Amino acid sequence: MKLDLLGNRQRTHYCGELRKAHAGQPVFVCGWVARRRDLGNLIFLDLRDHTGVTQVVCRPEVSGEAHDKAEEARAEYVIGVEGEVVLRAPETVNPQLSTGEVEVVARTLLVLNEAKTPPFPIDDDLRTTEETRLRYRYLDLRRGRMQHHLRLRHAASLAVREHLSAHGFVEIETPFMTRSTPEGARDYLVPSRIYPGRFYALPQSPQLFKQILMIGGFDRYFQIVRCFRDEDFRADRQAEFTQVDVEMAFPQREVLFGIIEELMVKLFALIEVKVERPLPLLAYDAAMEKYGSDKPHLGFDLAWKRVSLPERAREQIHVAEPLKALRVPGWATASRSQLDKLQEHAKQSGADWFSYAKVTASEVQSPLVKIIGDEPIRAVAGAVNAVPGDLIVMLGLKSASSARLETLPLQRVRQLDEASGEVRLDVARKLDLIKPGTWNFVWVVDFPMFGYDEKEKRFDAMHHPFTSPCDEDLQKLESDPASVKARAYDLVLNGSEIGGGSIRIHRQDVQKRIFNIIGLTEEKARERFGFFLDALEYGTPPHGGMALGYDRIVQLMAGESNIREVIAFPKTASGVDLMCGAPSQVDSPQEDELELMSAYPNLPADAWVLAASCDELLRLLDDEVFSRAVPGENQLQKAMALILAKARDDARAATRLAKAGYGPQSAGLCRAVVEASINARYIERDPEARGEAFLRSIVEGNRRLADKLARHPVPADLKEAINEAQKVESESKWPRSVAERAYDAQKQNYHYDVVFFLLSQQLHSDVAALAGKVALPDLPQLKIRIGRGKDAVKLALFTVFTYLHDVAEVAYTAFGLRKDGLYAARDRFERAHLSGAVSVDV
Ligand code: ASP
Repeated sequence: MKLDLLGNRQRTHYCGELRKAHAGQPVFVCGWVARRRDLGNLIFLDLRDHTGVTQVVCRPEVSGEAHDKAEEARAEYVIGVEGEVVLRAPETVNPQLSTGEVEVVARTLLVLNEAKTPPFPIDDDLRTTEETRLRYRYLDLRRGRMQHHLRLRHAASLAVREHLSAHGFVEIETPFMTRSTPEGARDYLVPSRIYPGRFYALPQSPQLFKQILMIGGFDRYFQIVRCFRDEDFRADRQAEFTQVDVEMAFPQREVLFGIIEELMVKLFALIEVKVERPLPLLAYDAAMEKYGSDKPHLGFDLAWKRVSLPERAREQIHVAEPLKALRVPGWATASRSQLDKLQEHAKQSGADWFSYAKVTASEVQSPLVKIIGDEPIRAVAGAVNAVPGDLIVMLGLKSASSARLETLPLQRVRQLDEASGEVRLDVARKLDLIKPGTWNFVWVVDFPMFGYDEKEKRFDAMHHPFTSPCDEDLQKLESDPASVKARAYDLVLNGSEIGGGSIRIHRQDVQKRIFNIIGLTEEKARERFGFFLDALEYGTPPHGGMALGYDRIVQLMAGESNIREVIAFPKTASGVDLMCGAPSQVDSPQEDELELMSAYPNLPADAWVLAASCDELLRLLDDEVFSRAVPGENQLQKAMALILAKARDDARAATRLAKAGYGPQSAGLCRAVVEASINARYIERDPEARGEAFLRSIVEGNRRLADKLARHPVPADLKEAINEAQKVESESKWPRSVAERAYDAQKQNYHYDVVFFLLSQQLHSDVAALAGKVALPDLPQLKIRIGRGKDAVKLALFTVFTYLHDVAEVAYTAFGLRKDGLYAARDRFERAHLSGAVSVDV
């Protein structure tokens, strides 16, 4: 349809503004058509903007043209209406609508733009998938609810800026393109074009910069800042998120808490919630014992207690000390199936021992009674102050050995605590104890300084490594790290961590000791944070601060259960921006300029299945062989160590090439892996002699020979070199040709004749093979296809797996390693084939 021009018309009112008092006034209102009702000679349009809806009436007797256009208007058309505000007749007043007492009679109607039919109606009780909403975010954003949330977010930002500025904090921007920051997640990296092979990292937080701002004399800093962490996706996590980041010099924790609490008061005033100060403090240890979480929901009164049972009883039921008991007031009515479900949940959460007791006026009822008698259970009931009508839930971890009474080490106590936290929430949900509209803030304090990393067998900073230990624990840093407390704190609201921070280390000597304890060598620390360690040496004031999880806070204020609802353009739970389609492939020239070898986007899905198998095998070898020392006592072990190492690197390179779409090149390289397997099998048949021959064949003489050949020797030299080579080789008794070795190794002759040949062809293409690359054979003009593709990719990956696995098998036998992992990897590889997930057209 023909569109109108806005011209120089200026809007006089927003749609949601019009009231009785405007009756009789001429207005010009604009917006989107929310609804059209056509009663023939009377057309109603609901006109919407972000402030609300106004009813527009088009009557032919007022303006035939406006009426005609209204006939054609559809939902989401953009229109402007010039007309007069009139009172509605009493019986047509709409009390649901703030503008319901009036309507605008259209004199002129401008159709400023058309709209396709939207995939979902723009209203608040929307029933469409989140996926559709995110794909058409611009339509979703028109909804009142999204308008409200993002405007609330804006108001909150203003409050943050105003409040912190009033307290002397200065807003300073810190870089996005920077070096790795120490929050313990993976960095997003930005490749540098100008410095090939170098990367900027996107900040996981401005941590080091804000500390440097304190060194730089700014005294108080804040920033509403984006942070980036490349972590596995979880339902409610965003790769980029916003923090209110704060730091102050010469800090007293209470002063900082006061400032942040006042900020909470102001933020929640925006939603008419009164936050009572001061907020309660809870020590980490107590939080873990009572609530089984370092971010406990304090909105309901359920608290665990560590309890113990007499030795004999524990022996009888094989449970380790300590156990935990939870009193659930009035839930002695719990049904069998409710308790079964609770037990199931407890087990899933990591507590493998579960029991319960029901307290009545005269007795305790529990499945334990007939095993250990009722005395110990009464004692537990007493310990948790149970009264008749209560249920007591008991959790524990099974004792590893039935003979010995086991006391749980700290990590296992934590495991039990975490399970108890899950069960507590589960009970609260079942009994509907979490009431909407309640706001329970708590500061969790006195965190341990270190956690123990079981896998790496070392301590790690529980917060980041710039957190200060408590002054009084300084002397036991090295002697008893597990008991050292940190000057760290978290702010928790309704069971969500909404902020966290610490008083920092400001002394170089303490900082070094911490790095030492977490196993960060001076060299590594220098490499990662050298600039920061330097800065620390130039008069660093005591300082501390925190960061608030801004998305989460606004989400809670908005009454939503997901942070995506308060982010204008969020990514899905799996990290995709459905509207703009990020992440996306990039144009190849850019990739080339950046010297990146990325994945080739057009590989078929089953090539990725194969690649995953290869990567799994490579990881396994790295873990089981290359991350430790292997025995080198005999010739076979020595030879296999070298052969496997080279095969591993060739296989890794071939896999990378294949994933990047350099299939023929990858396949060519795979010959080396096949040769490794021929060598391995050849040596295996006479390990001592052939192992030695192999080792001798690769020593010094051959290297010198290769050097000479590389320097374009004069004929005499060449002759000498060849003689020397022949001598070395004949002395080593290592057969010169692969074929010879292949024919002497069990089954390998076939692999040589067929596979080796096939792979060789990829590299030494003959003319016939080249012809495949010529698109237009009508000479004298040729168009040659270059660049990456999927040819031979699967062949290469298939070869990598099969032959690397073969080499590994021989090596594992030689080293005396268990082959379970190796066989499991091959099973998965074979199952992928049998299931049809992979079709190899080699
Ligand atoms: N940088 C920390 C974080 O992102 C907060 C802080 O210690 O101030 O969690």
